[in-house]
Amino acid sequence: MRICIFCGSSMGYDDVYRDAAHHVARFFTDNNIGLVYGGANVGLMKVLADVMLSEGKEVIGVMPTKLIRREVAHNNLTRMINVESMAERKEKMVELSDGFITLPGGFGTFDELSEILTFNQLRITDKPIGILNVNGYFDKLLQFFDHAVTEGFVRKEHRNNLVVSDNISDLFLKMNEYKPLTIGKWIKDIVKESHS
Ligand code: AMP
Repeated sequence: MRICIFCGSSMGYDDVYRDAAHHVARFFTDNNIGLVYGGANVGLMKVLADVMLSEGKEVIGVMPTKLIRREVAHNNLTRMINVESMAERKEKMVELSDGFITLPGGFGTFDELSEILTFNQLRITDKPIGILNVNGYFDKLLQFFDHAVTEGFVRKEHRNNLVVSDNISDLFLKMNEYKPLTIGKWIKDIVKESHS
């Protein structure tokens, strides 16, 4: 099994984030889970990759050529896949992975989380998506998602299909129980709403 992790190209100020990335990498090595990620040699991404590589585990990076030129690419990965664009990178990550976990990060991480949620909403993929809510980092984002449901811009079912935990083994258990949404009806509902 391979899981794609979206996370910061920064470390965050508090050591709790670095420790969490370390812990996740250990969980992956202990459970024989391969890692797919952005391929960088910086931030929480580097922590994950280095721990897994030191245990001889599989780490696949997917990186646009432009970023490689900026010399942030990790040079010791099991495999580095070069792509042309950020869009192609996400497609490749989706193709290679059995699920997605988001750890704390910045705009790049938000972009990846948001795109994969949209992919699931449109049933382009049906793979589980989890957030590891380290140190309550995502509390406000999750509150905003609830707000979007209350205001009628996100379907409750789509919001609820996002798996959240502050503990990696619990997150994994919940992701294993993930069931793709079968409500194809929501697009029809949106069309109806727009014409009433
Ligand atoms: P950010 O959350 O803004 O630090 O961006 C991290 C996410 O965006 C990662 O999951 C990567 O896939 C991607 N990303 C952003 N910056 C880089 C970088 N310098 N090298 C590789 N990937 C990056």
